[in-house]
Parts: sequence; structure tokens; C-alpha cells
Amino acid sequence: MAARVVDGKAVSAKVRGEVKVRVDGLRARGVQPCLAVVLVGEDPASVVYVRNKSKAAQEVGMEAREVKLPKDAHTADVVKAVRALAHDDSVDGLLVQFPLPAQVDQRAVVDCLPPEKDVDGFTFVQAGRLLRSEPALVPCTPAGVMRLLAECDVKVAGKHAVVVGRSLLVGKPMGLLLMGANATVTTCHSRTADLPGHVGRADIVIAAIGKPEFIQGAWLREGAAVMDVGINRGDDGKLRGDVHYASAAARASWITPVPGGVGPMTIAYLLQNTVEAAAARRDKRPPSTPIPGLR
Ligand code: NDP
Repeated sequence: MAARVVDGKAVSAKVRGEVKVRVDGLRARGVQPCLAVVLVGEDPASVVYVRNKSKAAQEVGMEAREVKLPKDAHTADVVKAVRALAHDDSVDGLLVQFPLPAQVDQRAVVDCLPPEKDVDGFTFVQAGRLLRSEPALVPCTPAGVMRLLAECDVKVAGKHAVVVGRSLLVGKPMGLLLMGANATVTTCHSRTADLPGHVGRADIVIAAIGKPEFIQGAWLREGAAVMDVGINRGDDGKLRGDVHYASAAARASWITPVPGGVGPMTIAYLLQNTVEAAAARRDKRPPSTPIPGLR
């Protein structure tokens, strides 16, 4: 079987269009949605990510605010900047670009994010709501993967999904969302015995490892849907996913390319979470990322 290629750019454009309609609606009510991003230091990849997020926010009619701190900033400096944005009524979505320099206590920074503006879904409150299947701001990448599965009409309910990776940002929320959509979920990690065996039993494979071309096509069940979250830059400057694309594409039913698959969905759902946070705050209700297929 030759896999169909998931066009993440096209689906992302569709989601951004939906967000723009919501932004226009809020602006018509006199509300100007605003995304604020805190960047500490000048890590080149982080600088590009922040620029892309701001640009994407502006393109859908949001205000984008960047607060930059020097690379030698201390935890107290970052906390102070975050608290100021937390109390700023004109800010709807607030995120801190990770990774932070080693001297900054990441947990202390996350703990001062206000849950209702936590568009990355990192806080105890948002993570807890997701765990309890309550309305939540869900981490953007797994939310985007759920949308891609829905757009490709990949049925999730009753299917066996294998998530490789258990990070707070991707693997864990991914597993919860798939479970919430009635999949049977296996989560694998670096200590999993017989990873190829687990992957081979999956109808849906989500790769979120951070190791280039790690998952081999020969491991896959014929017809599995493959969502490759990994973004790995090689010495040649090229981006590669966590899945060996050519061999996987020969066996899968659907596969996401890298770049152009899951990546664009992450920014699209950041915008979705920001407009949702803006709307929910005005409507005095808990924000809730729209996720297809949840029970
Ligand atoms: P982390 O490093 O936080 O987590 C990686 C996970 O992979 C861990 O749970 C780890 O297991 C597991 N792992 C590592 N080695 C193996 C192995 N040999 N076999 C099985 N599991 C293994 O990474 P993230 O979750 O943050 O990101 C994963 C990838 O996704 C990266 O390439 C990242 O760049 C990319 N990414 C892409 C995004 C996008 O927008 N497309 C957004 C976010 C991330 P253990 O817990 O045991 O250590």
C-alpha cells in the first residue's frame, strides 16, 4: 500500500481560517484578542519560533506582544515579567518559550502562569482538566494531531493507538486525547521492551521521540495511520521526523511528512487556544480547545 500524505499545511490554513472568523467576531464585540510570548535569551531556534508565532497571530487579526529578557535573566526576572502579563487585562494568551536558560527554574515559571491564559496547557489546572475529561486548554501539538486524524477520516474509536513518547508537552496529553476519543492506547518510551512489537500492533502510530528516522516502516502494520511529531535537524540542515518516511510510506494508509505535517498544526492550535481563551474570559466560562471525536 502506498500511503496518502497528510497535508498539514492545508489543514492548518483551514484552522487559521476558522480562528480568523472567531477573531473577527470578537473584534466586532470590541474585543482585541492578544497573544503574549516571553522569550529569554537569543537561542536561534527559539527566536524563529517566537517570530513565527507572532506573525501567525497577526495574520489572523490578533495583537502579538513579545517580551524579551536577556540570557542571564534569573527566575525572579522571568516570574516578574510573567506576572505582569498575567495581570494585564489586554492579554488573552500567555506563553513562555522553552527551553529556558539553565539558571531559570522552569517549574516556578509555569506555576505563575494564570490557567485561563495558559495556551500551552502546561499548568496544573489545564493538565488536570484534561485528565478529568473536563473542558481544558489542551497542548497545541496533540490537539493538532487529533484534528489531522479527523480531517483524514481516520477512525479513532475502538482502534489501537500506540504513542511513542511520554513528555508533558506531547506524549502524555496525546494518549489522554486518544483515550478520550475511545481509542485503546499504549504509551511507549525509552524503557519499553520490544518497541517494534508494540508499533506493529497499532492501527494508529504517533511518534514523538526526538530521534531522526527511528521508527522503521517494517515495524508497521499494513495500513496503519502514522502521525510523525518529530522535528530533527540533521548535520546537512535538513529536517527529519522520528519515522523513516520512505519505508513507512510504503506500508501506511496515511502519513504526515516532515516538514509540512504536524508542525503547522501546532501554531494553528496555539491561535485556536488564544482566541478560545479570549472568548471564554469574556463569556466567564472555562476555556475549551475544540477537539474532534472526544466523548
Ligand atoms: P522529549 O524529549 O520531552 O520526550 C521524548 C520522549 O521520547 C520521551 O518520553 C522518551 O522516553 C521517548 N524516547 C526517547 N528515546 C526513545 C526510544 N529509543 N524508544 C522509545 N521512546 C524513546 O520530547 P518532546 O515530546 O518534547 O518532543 C518529541 C519530538 O517532537 C522532538 O523531535 C520535538 O522536536 C518534536 N516536537 C514537534 C512539535 C511540532 O510542532 N511538530 C512540537 C513539540 C515537539 P523517556 O520518557 O523514557 O525518556
